[in-house]
Amino acid sequence: MNYILMGPPGAGKGTQAKKIVETFRMVHLSTGDMFRKAKKFDEVISKLLATGQLVPDEIVVNMLKKRLEKDDVRKGFLLDGFPRTLNQAQELDKMLKSENIKIDAVFFIDVHFEEAVKRISGRRVCSCGASYHVNFIPSKVAGICDACRSELVQRNDDKENVVKDRLGVYEKQTKPLVDYYDKAGLLVNIDGSKSEDEVFERIARLMGNV
Ligand code: AMP
Repeated sequence: MNYILMGPPGAGKGTQAKKIVETFRMVHLSTGDMFRKAKKFDEVISKLLATGQLVPDEIVVNMLKKRLEKDDVRKGFLLDGFPRTLNQAQELDKMLKSENIKIDAVFFIDVHFEEAVKRISGRRVCSCGASYHVNFIPSKVAGICDACRSELVQRNDDKENVVKDRLGVYEKQTKPLVDYYDKAGLLVNIDGSKSEDEVFERIARLMGNV
């Protein structure tokens, strides 16, 4: 089974994606993660990420195309952060058709603007991969990772002014995809204001049925 996870920044996509791929043993295809790993080598991408702007479609599409050609995706994948524009969605349709792969459902996790800003601007991360929130998931010692004792940092694109820009980009470029997948009969709405566990339970139940 293959799924797409959509939603504004702050909807909890990353957290849910991690739980889903662990539970259902699927391949996690996160274009954001791919760029964060690659940005050390590319100044242009690094700047786009830091300011919350989208990387040009052609670059993202080519990167994903190569990834979808690998055999492991055949055991099932979860797309997280892609597609983000109508053009990317259409390119994805073409790629899937040529690889003879189909999407089973698109989970759209929605949260309100203010909630999204609050969630993202409080996020703190560690280089070991652990993630915290100053209010909702605080580390035992403020600013220090529980797992490895390193100092926690705020991602550049999580700073409040960038978060607002990211949400603006989302509204303009990505939100139209909700309609696109609704018309395709694939959209499943998920209330992202619920707790992490409740959101996961709903998705997990649906994955058993769609
Ligand atoms: P994410 O972790 O999904 O929020 O992605 C972080 C950043 O990576 C975004 O703000 C964009 O700069 C870039 N990015 C990730 N996925 C895409 C995509 N599908 N199209 C364009 N840019 C993307």
